[in-house]
Amino acid sequence: MTQISLLLSANEAYASARENVADPRPGRHLAIVTCMDARIDVFATLGLHLGEAHVIRNAGGRITDDVLRSLALSSHVLGVDTVVVMQHTKCGLAGVTDAYLREITGADLGFLPIDDHAAALREDLELLTTKDYLSPLKVIAGFVYDVESGLLDDVVRWERPT
Ligand SMILES: [Zn+2]
Repeated sequence: MTQISLLLSANEAYASARENVADPRPGRHLAIVTCMDARIDVFATLGLHLGEAHVIRNAGGRITDDVLRSLALSSHVLGVDTVVVMQHTKCGLAGVTDAYLREITGADLGFLPIDDHAAALREDLELLTTKDYLSPLKVIAGFVYDVESGLLDDVVRWERPT
């Protein structure tokens, strides 16, 4: 079977077994921003279930303009007040440079490589907390997920002052 027909056939089994979630608002008022890395099962890692959280993924789990666009909607339209930014060990964006990533991809882009997880998380939390339009957000946490142990490192936390 081709890759695509495998997906379609898996979907038939899934559709017949699944439960419907009617409410589009995440039940835990939560959004997770994380890396696209295939080793991260976001829902299992954090004990989440269908309908409970938004999951926004990109290379590195960095705060890009598109993540900000999604979080503006998550927070204003869909009731999200808590964001977790979750980077991970052995990330392809760690320990490389923009110049190297531009060279191997041929793409003239800012890849947001990660030198140090704590510093990158602080930088990304700073971006989130200084956007006026993200004022509905009350709590933001920055974690690093260890892809070998499956454990989280609780690196940085922010709560909106009351
Ligand atoms: Zn990664």
